[in-house]
Amino acid sequence: MSAIDSLRNVLELERQKGYTDRAVIGGLDKYLHKQARQIRQDLIVALNEVKSKELIPRLLNDFDELNLANSNYVSYSRSERKQWITTVFGWLDQLDKAKSVIPGQDTGERTGKVQVKLRPNDQDASLSRAARTAARLKQNQTADLDSPITAVKGITPRVAAKLAKLNVRTVRDLLYLFPRRYLDYSRRKLISEVVEGEEQTIIGTIWQAKVATFGNRAGTEAIVGDESGTIRVVWFNQPYLAKRFRTNAKVVISGTVGLFKGQKVFESPEWELLEDKELIHTGRLVPVYPLTQGLYPRQVRKWTKEVVDGYAWQVVDFLPSEIRNRCQLLELPTAISQIHYPDDQTMAEKARRRLAFDELLLLQLGVLAKKREWQEGQPGNAFRIDREVIHRFLSCLPFSLTRAQERVLEEVLADLKQPKAMSRLLQGEVGSGKTVIATLALLTAAVNDYQAALMAPTEILAEQHFNNICSYLRQAVTRGESSEVADGTSRCYRGFLSRPFTVALLIGSLTAAEKERLHGKIKRGEVDVVIGTHALIQKEVEFRKLGLAVIDEQHRFGVLQRSALRQKGFNPHVLVMTATPIPRTMALTLYGDLDLSVIDELPPGRRVVRTKCLEPQDRERAYNFLRSQVANGRQAFIICPLIEESEALQVKAATTEYERLSREIFPDLKLGLLHGQMPSGEKEDVMRRFRAGQLDILVSTSVVEVGIDVPRASIMLIEGAERFGLSQLHQFRGRVGRDKEQGYCLLIPEKPSPEARERLRLMEKIHNGFALAEKDLELRGPGEFFGTHQSGLPDLRLAKLTDLDGLELARREAIALFRSDPNLEKPEHAHLRQQLSQAWSKAAEWS
Ligand code: ADP
Ligand code: MG
Repeated sequence: MSAIDSLRNVLELERQKGYTDRAVIGGLDKYLHKQARQIRQDLIVALNEVKSKELIPRLLNDFDELNLANSNYVSYSRSERKQWITTVFGWLDQLDKAKSVIPGQDTGERTGKVQVKLRPNDQDASLSRAARTAARLKQNQTADLDSPITAVKGITPRVAAKLAKLNVRTVRDLLYLFPRRYLDYSRRKLISEVVEGEEQTIIGTIWQAKVATFGNRAGTEAIVGDESGTIRVVWFNQPYLAKRFRTNAKVVISGTVGLFKGQKVFESPEWELLEDKELIHTGRLVPVYPLTQGLYPRQVRKWTKEVVDGYAWQVVDFLPSEIRNRCQLLELPTAISQIHYPDDQTMAEKARRRLAFDELLLLQLGVLAKKREWQEGQPGNAFRIDREVIHRFLSCLPFSLTRAQERVLEEVLADLKQPKAMSRLLQGEVGSGKTVIATLALLTAAVNDYQAALMAPTEILAEQHFNNICSYLRQAVTRGESSEVADGTSRCYRGFLSRPFTVALLIGSLTAAEKERLHGKIKRGEVDVVIGTHALIQKEVEFRKLGLAVIDEQHRFGVLQRSALRQKGFNPHVLVMTATPIPRTMALTLYGDLDLSVIDELPPGRRVVRTKCLEPQDRERAYNFLRSQVANGRQAFIICPLIEESEALQVKAATTEYERLSREIFPDLKLGLLHGQMPSGEKEDVMRRFRAGQLDILVSTSVVEVGIDVPRASIMLIEGAERFGLSQLHQFRGRVGRDKEQGYCLLIPEKPSPEARERLRLMEKIHNGFALAEKDLELRGPGEFFGTHQSGLPDLRLAKLTDLDGLELARREAIALFRSDPNLEKPEHAHLRQQLSQAWSKAAEWS
């Protein structure tokens, strides 16, 4: 007797016994818990008998939603028990019915929509497919989604090693290796209708196929004919094809048609013999997969087809059906099948939408859970806000806060007052004055006898913060009877707070002795504010009482580092700052664990950097202008074009450019070179020399440090400008004109298309980073705008952070879920909970 039959008997007995949980010894839950696996296995065998294969995902899904392994029958009331058992019977009936149904007209509906009738005998296609699926099932009974990929026919350990490079190790991974795009080979033409230069598909009979030579290479030449005519088809280097094409065999050819001596010819097209099989390489939307050395498109398609047919329906849909319905999403097994081998463009898009939703929902849920854990897991430290100190500090500054700064300051102070930890993201354009806000928060921590830390991504930035903050404090203390005492790594201010107040700089390049001394002072609580780099999160650094952590240029740090700094204290307040303008919804998704504040106003009198988009032939003039600026004691940046394919190429190009400029253009000036593959000490050194005015021109790749102040730099020349996003160009130009002098930004595109030139022109007109970010999104579309790679976050394969509607939807659903069932404890959320922990497991330290 199968486990399914026993299940039926047990439930029947339980019904007879009046739902008293006496049908089996030990209780129903224990029985189900032990049997669930076997029941599912038997179910998979039973599904072979189901004729309408499209019912299978639903049956399996419904079964999984019953969640027998985690049943909680014992806790139910009598009427709940009755209802639950009725549900299970309902499902058993469904299964029985499915086994007796023969596929009818309705099941053909979707295939009917395909534009081409290519399949040899369309009505039979789904049947024969089903038969094959069933056969495969028998053979695969031991393999499941988590089996190593070698369980798939044709995948040898050698192939598996290649697939591993694409992070494909299990059957499930292969299901989740999504195509990058599709070739549209779904439009069938008669041979007489074929036109030159377009992707199209023909079906015909092989009249003749033979080995032919092209130049000195052997290839294959075939003549294919249909009722309307014949056409030549050539493959330049696959002589073995000649043997595979038997005369009179039916073949499908998909590809682009060219002209040779006035005759139309298919050149190295995709081909597929028309057998009793679904087409996967031709005659449809054909998936194009990411490949790695030694993998060929046809092979990969064969394997993905294999797993889609054999395993996709085993994937458990972890989304509660309520959400799926509300958001009108495909079921997961269907979405997975359709993303690989879509019936048509509409289905491909629906599949993408479902799978992207999953990614965003999991991202959101994880981020929300993290936030709650920080805020509610343990109480935070409520700070007293000392208005007197804040006022005294502000009144000593040579400027007054902008309205936006005032607003943001109040938002920060309001957080600090709370007995739960602040988690706030402070966004503000370059030069909008984030540092003052941070300084006031640091001071407030000190007033409350807590220590505070500020972490910057580079030594230069850390030093810069240290100097700026010290200069603010110096201005504040020199008013009264007060003093600044400096030693190598720290400065102490008296007369400002009721006790001496010490600020220290902790960076990697300190000597070991200096570091050790500083570590000691931090541990003993003799330092109030520590400003530093990653050196701050080393394990030797122990704070006596860390109450606030400020992190500058957030996008440079992963979630993990943020978390590491947080862990240095007892649930400290956290403020992260960034100059990268991110549209709100996107910020909420990526940093959904953070509240958002925006400084959307620059201090008055800030001059905009004058920006000009030049033609490549204007380069001479640009160099002359640059030279004249240098003659006036100014400095210049020259940014080299972005080469995305390879960091090594990029470095090479920058080095060549640096040498060319040094030798041919500016032999009399002092030039420096900065690129990503230099050791960090060398990088810092070049930047330091540039900042100190020892270099006139800094030739750099796009690594040039965000946030760096080089007061005398007035000119920014950007080569290959069309390769950068507007936001990035805006960040670059924020590096110049920091002083009172006018700043200039010259954009030299390489081979601009009219659209690219138009886009660059926007830089001349728009000087607001957020407006440019929005434009970027609009013009460059998804993917380009913001690197999605954030360490510690689950990866996004299909979801685009630029899909604002999708973000909004996922966020709304995540928040609703979170409200109704914060720990995902409800039975209908069990699969979701499991999926969530899997998605986040890569960032294990995170949770
Ligand atoms: P960012 O937001 O890029 O980190 P900073 O905090 O470095 O900007 O500030 C840039 C410059 O503007 C600094 O020299 C700072 O002293 C100055 N500044 C900050 N706020 C104001 C203000 N309200 N009015 C005038 N200058 C200001
Ligand atoms: Mg800054």
